[in-house]
Amino acid sequence: MHTPVSLLAFEAEKSSDHKQADAVAGVTTDAAVTDVEAAVMEGAPASFKTLDDLAKDASTCRLCSLADTRNQVVFGVGNPQADLMFIGEAPGQEEDLKGEPFVGRAGQLLDRMLHALKLDREKVYIMNTIKCRPPNNRDPRPDEVQACNLWFDQQLDMVQPKMICLLGRVAAQTILQSDAPLGSLRGRWHDYQGIPVWVTYHPAYLLRSPRQKEKSWQDMRQLQQRIQALNSSGAVA
Ligand code: SF4
Repeated sequence: MHTPVSLLAFEAEKSSDHKQADAVAGVTTDAAVTDVEAAVMEGAPASFKTLDDLAKDASTCRLCSLADTRNQVVFGVGNPQADLMFIGEAPGQEEDLKGEPFVGRAGQLLDRMLHALKLDREKVYIMNTIKCRPPNNRDPRPDEVQACNLWFDQQLDMVQPKMICLLGRVAAQTILQSDAPLGSLRGRWHDYQGIPVWVTYHPAYLLRSPRQKEKSWQDMRQLQQRIQALNSSGAVA
């Protein structure tokens, strides 16, 4: 698990303070240090938390009404230091049951798309704009997206991807704050908070509309070219 540099520095500073205090008090037990660290971490600001800490916090979230109908929060999966992040719209039925984004047939198709990019789930980070399943798979409402921004923004800050690929109309329109149809958002680079953003079809849509797969592979090829350009410039690990 990735530990932020700021946390390492913070931990070193804390450790030093504990040792001095313990020396004055005449106690130098590791248990005392561990207890204090646990207490400090419990109330730690977001900047000192890891992605796992954040997922744990989100797992009990009730900031919007989707908490009443979900089975579980679907936080995100993959490499917490990924250079490439995929973002879909919201968990579906299978994701809601399993607690993982993009499972089932759509997930398998996403895996094949990743394979075409010479990637897999361990090398990228995958999440949705909102973390709980809307009833009957309806589009997320603006108030739900707004509420879930609390988690979305922190995930993005922690992973700090160098590129984002938005999967499907809802994710694209939500993140890019656009009413434009997916067709006009595809095929050109966008920007989200300084991060290059690419748009393509959602794998579930491709399963319903297999004729669009060719366009999807074109999107993947262009995404791959950008990844290779970043790789050759040394910007992508
Ligand atoms: S969708 Fe997001 S904001 Fe709403 S309950 Fe789930 S985790 Fe919380």
